[in-house]
Amino acid sequence: MTSSIIQNLDTLKKAQRLDSEIHQAQGLLEEIPAKRAKLKAEMEFEKGRLHELEKSLKDIQVKLKDRELELSQKENQIKKLDGQLSQVKTNKEYAALQQEVASLKADNSLLEEGIIHILDEVDAAKDETRKEKEKLALITKSFQEKDDALAGQEKTLQIRLAEMKKQRDEAVVQLPLELGELYQRIAFKKQGLALAAVNGENCAACQMNLRPQLLNEIRLGEQIIVCENCSRILYYEA
Ligand SMILES: [Zn+2]
Repeated sequence: MTSSIIQNLDTLKKAQRLDSEIHQAQGLLEEIPAKRAKLKAEMEFEKGRLHELEKSLKDIQVKLKDRELELSQKENQIKKLDGQLSQVKTNKEYAALQQEVASLKADNSLLEEGIIHILDEVDAAKDETRKEKEKLALITKSFQEKDDALAGQEKTLQIRLAEMKKQRDEAVVQLPLELGELYQRIAFKKQGLALAAVNGENCAACQMNLRPQLLNEIRLGEQIIVCENCSRILYYEA
């Protein structure tokens, strides 16, 4: 095996094409857990919101029960006092009882107003809870679909990645040992792009202007020349 760049160019390009795809696939693969976590967080947020709405509905319903109980207690008291009215002996007692009844009735009328208001609150809270439940059901369904799709994507990418790595390794072992090692070192640092074509008088990867002497050596293609700026292996497109 010779280390001349010209004789190994096809293999190097093949390895680079695979490395570039590997890099892309790895990037996509790395994004998947965050995407899944984001979906899950969205669903958890809506779940939390529904939980809060249900709790506040329950609180309002408890408040309603308390007021209704209070109202019925006061109504009973009024009935009792009404019964006592016919049995009192003095005008003074009678007036006092009547005053008490009037005050209870006034209380009850306020209580009834409050209850009507709370009933409206219950309706509104029920409505909001129902809407949130529907929203959560939709989100849960779409979460499941999206999450399944992401899990499928993950699996496909992993299989594809393993296949491409195998092909890349098969290409790299065809290179002379030193060149293969150099290629891998640069590819690792340069996100899978270890090669750079010469474009006019420049490195096509970093646009660095190349010295005439260097251009000559690259054109000869007998030894490995790396860009002095970006460290990539330089070659002339045949
Ligand atoms: Zn360069």
